[in-house]
Amino acid sequence: GTINIVKLLEQLLDEFYPSFQSNHLEYEYQTSKKDICIEADGDLIARLFDNLINNAIKYGADGKLIKVCISEVPGMVKIDVINYGKVIPNQELNNIFKKFYRVEQSRSENTGGTGLGLAIAKNVVDMHNGTIEVTSSLKGTSFTVCLPYSLSECKDKFMIDNKGETVGNNK
Ligand code: ATP
Ligand code: MG
Repeated sequence: GTINIVKLLEQLLDEFYPSFQSNHLEYEYQTSKKDICIEADGDLIARLFDNLINNAIKYGADGKLIKVCISEVPGMVKIDVINYGKVIPNQELNNIFKKFYRVEQSRSENTGGTGLGLAIAKNVVDMHNGTIEVTSSLKGTSFTVCLPYSLSECKDKFMIDNKGETVGNNK
């Protein structure tokens, strides 16, 4: 169905609010537009960003700040999920999308996790003809997801679930 990715992310961030608070994390949110629609399975897209934001909380705890930025590139909507703190070693950047793979430091620190979150994220992105990329340095760790736009009109639409029903609040 057609989903409003801006509304979906705003709803998700609202749901994460208690978790940001209990982890003493500030969050910053920016979007280039109030409404951007994509053709997608809303549940899977929510799962994808749930996994990325959970990672940002789990591995970015020292960094104190999480950012979610929505912008547009030709034909695509681009979403950056950024955290600070732990840096992912360069040679690990390709491995982390593999099933059950966890960076050595995460294993030894007992943060808990199965190593499936990013493998699922990558699968969801592939299913929607999108891309996911990661960069990590002392300036921050950034997961960038690009997903193709929907050509259908989206302005002022509510978030739409995959049954075509409107859900969520039009803020
Ligand atoms: P799960 O998501 O299944 O609970 P997980 O978080 O360990 O477990 P992934 O989400 O697939 O698994 O992440 C794989 C590994 O990549 C993590 O164990 C961690 O080492 C590293 N990683 C993922 N996201 C970040 C991040 N934002 N900052 C630093 N390291 C990260
Ligand atoms: Mg994870």
